[in-house]
Amino acid sequence: MTEETKDYIEYTLETDSELRFEIEDKDAKVQVMLFSGFAEMFGTELVKKKKYNFGCGAKVAIFTYQGCVLHLWGKTDVSYISKETPMVQYLNCHAALEQLRTQAEEKDERGPIAMVVGPTDVGKSTLCRILLNYAVRLGRRPLYADTDVGQGALSIPGTIGTILVERPASIEDGLSMTAPLVYHFGYKTPSGNNTLYKAVVSKMAEVTLESMNVNKKTKHSGIIINTCGWVKGDGYAILAHTAQAFEVNAVFVLDQERLYNELLRDMPSFVRVVLLSKSGGVVERSKEQRAEARDQRIKEYFYGSKTPFYPFSFEVKFQDLKLYKIGAPPLPDSCMPIGMKAEDNKTKLVAVTPSSSLLHHILAVSFAESNEDDVIGTNVAGFVCVTDVDMERQAITILSPQPRPLPNTLLLLSDLQFMDSHA
Ligand code: ADP
Repeated sequence: MTEETKDYIEYTLETDSELRFEIEDKDAKVQVMLFSGFAEMFGTELVKKKKYNFGCGAKVAIFTYQGCVLHLWGKTDVSYISKETPMVQYLNCHAALEQLRTQAEEKDERGPIAMVVGPTDVGKSTLCRILLNYAVRLGRRPLYADTDVGQGALSIPGTIGTILVERPASIEDGLSMTAPLVYHFGYKTPSGNNTLYKAVVSKMAEVTLESMNVNKKTKHSGIIINTCGWVKGDGYAILAHTAQAFEVNAVFVLDQERLYNELLRDMPSFVRVVLLSKSGGVVERSKEQRAEARDQRIKEYFYGSKTPFYPFSFEVKFQDLKLYKIGAPPLPDSCMPIGMKAEDNKTKLVAVTPSSSLLHHILAVSFAESNEDDVIGTNVAGFVCVTDVDMERQAITILSPQPRPLPNTLLLLSDLQFMDSHA
C-alpha cells in the first residue's frame, strides 16, 4: 500500500511516551493496532497486530516503555503523543508494593494495603487499574476495593464494593466484574449520609480484610483501594476513616500537596504517604458528564453494553414488598430516646410505605431476610428499578435482571434514579 492510500494514521512513539486520544462522536468507531514494539493501555499489554475497538466516550492513553509503532483507524476528537507522563513514578510505586509483597510472602503476612486519594478527575481509578494490572501480570491476585460511590464502577452508582482481580483488565472492557462483593449506600456522594457511609466502609473493610485469609496468594498480594474525590472537611475525615478501617500502610496522593501534607500530619508513622503527579492526559468531566456517566453505568447494569442483556419487567404488589430505607430524618438530641444520639438515626432502618415517589428509583435487593439482621452490614444481590407505580392497583412495576419472583429479602430504597427509556 502506498502512503496516499493508507486508511490509517501511523504513530511512532519513543520510549516513555504515550498516544492519547478521545472519542466524542456517537457513531465513531476507532481501531488501534500495535504494529511493532511494546505498548500497554493503563497497565494492560497490547497484543501485536490485534485490532482493538473503541467507541464514543473513550479517553485513552497507550503508553510505551520501549518505543512502538501504532496504527489508528477512524475519527478521534483529539489525538496526540505526549512525552510528559508520570508512568515511571507509577511504576516505582508498583515496584515498592511488589517489594512489600515479596516480604509478606517470606513471612506469611498480609501484603500491602494501598489507598489512592486525590480530588476528582486526577486519574485515581486509572492509577488503581495500572497498579492492579502490574500486580496480576506478575502472578499476584490482589483485591480491589472501590469506595468511590459516585461512580460505582464495580456495580452501580450509590454502592461500594470489592473484587478479586485475577487477570489484567481487558483493553476494551476494563476490569472483569465476576462476583463483586457489593454494599448498598444509596447516595451518589458520601455527604448524602456521612455516618452511614463510614459504617458501610467499615463493614466492607472488615469483610475484605477477612477475605484476604481465604488464600495465601491474595493475602500476600494485598489490596488496592480507590476513593472519592471529596477531600476537604468531612470528605477528608472520611478518607482518614477509610484508611483506618482498611488498616492501610501506603497512601498514594495524586496531585494535591495540601492533602498530602494533611495526611503526612495525620496518618500513623507506619503509613507511607507518597505524593504523585497527575497525568496531563486525564480528562476533566463536567457535572453533567458525570451525571451522564452514572446514568450510563445503570443502563449497562440492566441492558449490558457490548453483550446485550434482556431485563425482565413485572409487577409486585405493595403487600409483597419488604421495602426499607436507611436513615430517619434528623431529630434534635433532646427528642431522642434516652441513650440514643441523633447520629444513630442516620443508620436506622426505616420501613417505607410505597407511594408514587418511588417512581424511577433504584431498589437494592439485599441478602438480608429480615429487619432483625445486620442490614447495613449485609451485601446486596442486585438491583431493580421502579418503572411504574399504580396506586389504584397497589402495585409497582419493576425492571429486573432476574425473572419473577423477587427473592423474599429486603429491598433498600436508593436516592438514585434511572429513567428507563427502553420501557
Ligand atoms: P478519577 O478516578 O480521579 O476521577 P479517572 O482515573 O477516572 O479519574 O480518569 C478520568 C478519565 O481520564 C478516564 O476516562 C480515563 O480513561 C482518562 N485518562 C486517565 N489517564 C489518561 C491519560 N494518561 N491520557 C488520556 N486519558 C486518560
